[in-house]
Amino acid sequence: MCNSGCYCSRKEGESNRVILSNSDKMEEACGVFGVYAPGENLFRLTNFALYALQHRGQESAGIALSDGCDIHLKKGQGLVAEVFPHWEGFNDITAVGALGHVYYSARGKARPENSQPLLVRYRQGNLAVAYNGNLTNASELREKLEAEGSIFQTMTDSELIAHLVARSGRRDLESALQNVLPALRGAYSFIFLTEDRLIGLRDPYAVRPLSLGRWRGHLVLSSETCAFDTIGAEKIRDIQPGEMVVIGRDGLKSIQVMPSPRLALCVFEFIYFARPDSDIHDRNVYLVRKRLGRQLAREHPVQADLVTGVPDSSLTAASGFAEELGLPYEWGLIKNRYIGRTFLQPRQETRDIGVQLKLNPVKQVVQGKKVVVVDDSIVRGTTSKRLVNMFVRAGAKEVHLRIASPPIIGPCYYGIDTPDHSELIGARQNIEEIRREIGATTLQYLSHRGMFESVGIPPDKLCTACFSGKYPF
Ligand code: SF4
Repeated sequence: MCNSGCYCSRKEGESNRVILSNSDKMEEACGVFGVYAPGENLFRLTNFALYALQHRGQESAGIALSDGCDIHLKKGQGLVAEVFPHWEGFNDITAVGALGHVYYSARGKARPENSQPLLVRYRQGNLAVAYNGNLTNASELREKLEAEGSIFQTMTDSELIAHLVARSGRRDLESALQNVLPALRGAYSFIFLTEDRLIGLRDPYAVRPLSLGRWRGHLVLSSETCAFDTIGAEKIRDIQPGEMVVIGRDGLKSIQVMPSPRLALCVFEFIYFARPDSDIHDRNVYLVRKRLGRQLAREHPVQADLVTGVPDSSLTAASGFAEELGLPYEWGLIKNRYIGRTFLQPRQETRDIGVQLKLNPVKQVVQGKKVVVVDDSIVRGTTSKRLVNMFVRAGAKEVHLRIASPPIIGPCYYGIDTPDHSELIGARQNIEEIRREIGATTLQYLSHRGMFESVGIPPDKLCTACFSGKYPF
């Protein structure tokens, strides 16, 4: 019986779409894109941008379009291509602005109603909201609002902020946001769309990325710069910590709505979440990953026949590792790109077989060889164990696992879906115990210092909480 009391096999809050990689990775929790360009075909443009941000969320996708008088919304569960298989009339709307979102829910929030953007109609007009991140005081704020009579239809922070804005009594959105923002705690990059404006907002620590770009003379906002490249836009700059940008008929207005105590960029964006062709804080993610691999090789060299990486996020670090030691770099592990991240109505056994379905070693490459396998991180250790076992079964003589980040010892409260502390293998066991558990010949992690040097940003400007246990706020 599930937690709701019926006889389905689900736990409360779970959809029938189980995440294959509910395995062993920290999971990103959304990508946002916004554009203000009166008279342009913004549905197509936003659709293309969402394709570029698909890696940040595969559970649902949505696009809100403003025609200047009204806001139209289309969203649904699935990949961007599944949600928008045809243009379905939206293509005919001559828009003023658009807001797009791809969603990956934290556990317990995988419900269709949580798809974004969220569209609300309140006294001041229409408002579409989408975000990337997590409000750490959401429960507290929600309980307070519910006690005062508010009714919520979703479990999203977008609905929470929409309620706060509507109740603020302020006549315009900018001043309403300035009024409610001091009450919010957490990591968030929000984009709001009204009939005639687009507003971007980043939390005072700028944990989650948000960049400003220019497309055909119009302004665009995106979680990652790879979306700018896809649509032919150029990056102007990152939205600053605590900054709100209001984009409308009069161009761009920047308002420092909250003081910034410090910068705390999520270091995991560089290690795993972001696409390698994106730039974050003016650092290219591909080049950072290459440096992570090189540094890992300097810290933990190994005599081996070849180096391979776990596709896709670890391939760049693996090539850096191989280059540094002068070892051959091979594609020793092949990823099935047609499985996707989710299965409909899976059973436990399909979840268990998930790694085998997605990854397969090339026997002819690894047989009889001493193999270095580079991965970006270890969360629970289950995937690493299966991977090592796969290489052994494929005939590898030795399997040396090298991790291009330090051990993960704490959960993330800033918008990344992580298992509980008790499930994090790095929080429970030392490196030798982990090695024995997963069955690798040797196991080594990158040092904290090596990570900072490779990223090229000092630790006091990064969030490294899942590696250090030191939460910036
Ligand atoms: S704890 Fe910090 S570094 Fe780790 S994933 Fe979360 S925001 Fe990123």
